[in-house]
Amino acid sequence: MKFHWKDPLEPTVKVCPKCGGKLGQTSSMSGWMTPEYYYCEKCGYKGSVYVEIDAEDYMAANKKDTQQVTGSNDNS
Ligand SMILES: [Zn+2]
Repeated sequence: MKFHWKDPLEPTVKVCPKCGGKLGQTSSMSGWMTPEYYYCEKCGYKGSVYVEIDAEDYMAANKKDTQQVTGSNDNS
C-alpha cells in the first residue's frame, strides 16, 4: 500500500491499519472522549487510528483481489 499526498478534493476511504478492511465509524454513544473512533468489521480492530486511501484505490484493490482468486487456477 502506498502513501502519498493527493488532491484533498478526491474522495477517500478510511481503512483498517491492521488488515486494510473498511472501517465503520462509531458514534459517541458510549461516551468516548475521542472525536473519531473507528472499528473494523473484518478483524475487530477498534481505535482512532486509521489509514486513509483513495476511494478509487480501495475499489481497485478489492477488484484485483477478486480477480486474483477467480483467475488463480490458470496454470496450464
Ligand atoms: Zn481490520
